[in-house]
Amino acid sequence: MPMQDDIDHILINRDAISQRLDELAQSLAADLLAETQDGPGEVTLVPILTGSIIFLADLIRRLPIPMQIRVMSVTSYPGTAMSSKGASIEAALTKLPEDLSNNHVVIIDDILDSGNTLKLVKATIEQRNPISVRTAVLLRKKIPSAMSFQAEYVAFDIPDEFVVGYGLDFNDYYRNLPDIVTLKKHVYAQA
Ligand code: 5GP
Ligand code: MG
Repeated sequence: MPMQDDIDHILINRDAISQRLDELAQSLAADLLAETQDGPGEVTLVPILTGSIIFLADLIRRLPIPMQIRVMSVTSYPGTAMSSKGASIEAALTKLPEDLSNNHVVIIDDILDSGNTLKLVKATIEQRNPISVRTAVLLRKKIPSAMSFQAEYVAFDIPDEFVVGYGLDFNDYYRNLPDIVTLKKHVYAQA
């Protein structure tokens, strides 16, 4: 069955994403250039697998600055496909250097929801003594747990709805949808 049949409605379409990424990348690039022009340090992006991969791909091609990419993988537990209660780092898929003391780090994630993932990631990175840490997220839910985490770059604030597409999944599917959408109820009923 075509994936299109599972879409309830489009929340943010591909053109809106692209336009907003132009702005976000411009401000991130300006901030990183200001940091690195006069002082020491290199730029390291830390994308959180797997949801951030499309955001990452589109963002980095708008950042004309030297950078390294070091992925991290975080698993949520014990929740369901649509919610998480906690987070732990998956060591085998994480390539974070032990020492980040010469680095300006930018954490990249798909969505800020409970904030558990980003709290854990940020604390882990801070233990490795970076010069600076920033966080860029594609989406932030308008709920207290998400709004209370300090993310410097947020592409879109969205209502508290479960969304997929543009990297975000339901049971690991739908990441390849170019728009950010909600799913019809029958999809959840079948899963
Ligand atoms: P956290 O709750 O720790 O802030 O977010 C953890 C992860 O839950 C996100 O990286 C994302 O993978 C997943 N998540 C949270 N809200 C949504 C949502 O609305 N849709 C999808 N597909 N994943 C979500
Ligand atoms: Mg994720």
